Amino acid sequence: MNLSKLIIISIIMLLTISSNAQLKRTAFINGKIYTVNPKQPLAQSVIAEGNRILFVGSNKDAQRYINKTTKVIDLKGKLMLPGFIDGHTHFINGGFHLIGLKLHDLTSKKDFVDAIKNYVKGKEGRWITGGRWDHENWQDKTLPTKEMIDPFTPKTPVFLKRYDGHMGLANSYALKLAGITKDTPSPEGGLIVKDPKTGEPTGILKDNAMDLIDNIIPEHSDVEYNEALTAALNEAKRFGVTSIEDMSYTTDESFEKQLPTYQNFEKEGKLTVRVATRMPIKTYKKFLKDGIEYNFGDDFITLGSLKAYADGSLGSSTAWFFEPYVSDKDNYGLPNDIFKNGNFEKWALDADKHKLQICVHAIGDKAVSSTLDVVEKMENENPNWDRRFHVEHAQHLKPQDIPRMAKLGVIASVQPTHLMEDGNWAVKRIGKERLKYMHPYNSFLNAGVIVDFGTDFPVVTLNPLVGLYMAVTRRTSDGKNPNGLEPQEKISIEQAIKCYTLNSAYAEFQENKKGSIEPGKLADFVVLDKDILTIDPVKIKDVKVDMTVLGGKIVYKAD
Ligand SMILES: [Zn+2]
Repeated sequence: MNLSKLIIISIIMLLTISSNAQLKRTAFINGKIYTVNPKQPLAQSVIAEGNRILFVGSNKDAQRYINKTTKVIDLKGKLMLPGFIDGHTHFINGGFHLIGLKLHDLTSKKDFVDAIKNYVKGKEGRWITGGRWDHENWQDKTLPTKEMIDPFTPKTPVFLKRYDGHMGLANSYALKLAGITKDTPSPEGGLIVKDPKTGEPTGILKDNAMDLIDNIIPEHSDVEYNEALTAALNEAKRFGVTSIEDMSYTTDESFEKQLPTYQNFEKEGKLTVRVATRMPIKTYKKFLKDGIEYNFGDDFITLGSLKAYADGSLGSSTAWFFEPYVSDKDNYGLPNDIFKNGNFEKWALDADKHKLQICVHAIGDKAVSSTLDVVEKMENENPNWDRRFHVEHAQHLKPQDIPRMAKLGVIASVQPTHLMEDGNWAVKRIGKERLKYMHPYNSFLNAGVIVDFGTDFPVVTLNPLVGLYMAVTRRTSDGKNPNGLEPQEKISIEQAIKCYTLNSAYAEFQENKKGSIEPGKLADFVVLDKDILTIDPVKIKDVKVDMTVLGGKIVYKAD
């Protein structure tokens, strides 16, 4: 044997030894492990080696894999689940919300005005954004106006969005900077609300009209982005969320700003959630140029998925329906302009042909139906591939569209926590009949639709326990539905957990990598302080996370 061969062999041996030595083992023993793997639903122990799962089984069998260097964690009988995968977040935006102005829980207009007044102090002249207000929480449920905030913001531009992100309140200074006057026409798919007497803008801008101001707000600095992502990651850890789909990017620029923030955190080992990104559909050609298809990336960041809007929201009365709003007989909602001008269909068919995944925000029944029409065209015109098209929200459906979704393999990416608030007032907007097919989770599952759970954070809390609670109880926050709003649509806790783990992984094309606790998959887990499989379902929302494990490492531990 010549020397060079020998050197190569010894290098290989060294590498093998050192790589095995580097792979740390952590044993989680003595737990109730609910795996979401139908072949082995329950176990007592799980052992992680490096970032993957090595073993799942009994305490006794686990002993064979435990040696002197293995870190052993006694779960003391507590429930362990696969880490939660949130199928719909605005993650970095959520971080900005966590560190910024908070108006959501205020119960009066006076508190709203006072909170803004206090927040503005010391920040005069800087853009004041965020807020997430909700006029439905106020006694007087009328929309706010610019006059309420103008007196203390003469030279401070303010643009505060409603919590659903479908309308915003601008002050006079912001309107002036954006050049919006009584003569400015509303853009396609948007509305500049004007005073019926004077014709002056009231300060409220809906849907696409918000772009007029969003486009002139300066970008956050890199430091601010880092602060926001850090805040969002801390929130995810404490709620046991180990993966997210990020729908944040409304513009190309925001994507180009946020992606490097994630990448830098990954390089520095600080990224404690796995991120599936969604780029705005109008920019899909960038992916074609780089030859990127669906699920492109590594264990932490993936690209190759697109987001589009079909309509607005129920709260803003802009969700697009076949029948008008009960409270406003001329209003059928606002289809997004790309649905009206044909661009959506054109872009979607082309992107789909190149194997990019598409996710469409559709809340009203007409928005869902119109989206499915385009998916049918994809089926007919494009190569038959496992496209895993998403309808995001899918809140209101024509009953016949549910089996249609199943047949087309379209994923319902839904957010049960929305029902908690929306359920309080939805009947005023759409009447009793349409309420029957509002958030129809049981009907989806019975028809064979894959349901993927998420939150829409920061529209609502990132806490998955609240979502699970809502899916199994359907109790609205006003306390008026103790047995659940449309109780026939409740699902079991086991079904709900699957929607929040394995189904969400499937929605990202990653069901072979994560979403259940089985050997070979990523070691992402959450340990809860109560057993949600057996406690009274109404208590699920108060259950806390004890421990969050990402790739075999404990990233959060309750004290
Ligand atoms: Zn959203």
